[in-house]
Amino acid sequence: MEKDKLRLLVTTQCPNKCPMCCNNSWDFTKLPVVDHFNYKEVMITGGEPLLFPDQVAILSDAIKNSNVLAYNHEVSVFIYTALADGILTILPYVDGVVYTPHSEKDIESFLKANRAIGLFPETVKNKSLRLNLFANMKALIPKSINLSHWQIKDMIWIKDCPVPHDEEFKRVGKLWERI
Ligand code: SF4
Repeated sequence: MEKDKLRLLVTTQCPNKCPMCCNNSWDFTKLPVVDHFNYKEVMITGGEPLLFPDQVAILSDAIKNSNVLAYNHEVSVFIYTALADGILTILPYVDGVVYTPHSEKDIESFLKANRAIGLFPETVKNKSLRLNLFANMKALIPKSINLSHWQIKDMIWIKDCPVPHDEEFKRVGKLWERI
């Protein structure tokens, strides 16, 4: 039976090299290639999709437009990323961002983005902002920081990255690559 949520792999490239990364255990060539967008929710994931911000924007627009035309219902598009610098740029094109910092440098970038959101809250109006925090990353965020725009989820690494039972996991036909 088809499910309402699609996890869509667009690239396996990523500037990070996390030891427990799903890319180490999955054979992505075996994932089915997406052939429709009749879902209520699409999660664009990688690798790091924001290595390709223009392609994410085009893909998100295409998913939303084709969905309304072909299936007469709306779809929410979310992006999973570890690049905080790209969050505010991509937000106009998606319904929300799930941000997962992996290093001290990521936290610095996140705090900068969070400051900008605090100064210009209209940029995140009607957007979903989720912050996934591993314990070592959470410890790097000063207690005084206002995270009220974010829904925070405490994270642990899970071996082999099982796909949640209510999601389908597919890939684009040609994974995006930077030469
Ligand atoms: S940031 Fe994510 S995709 Fe990149 S190496 Fe780490 S776990 Fe893998």
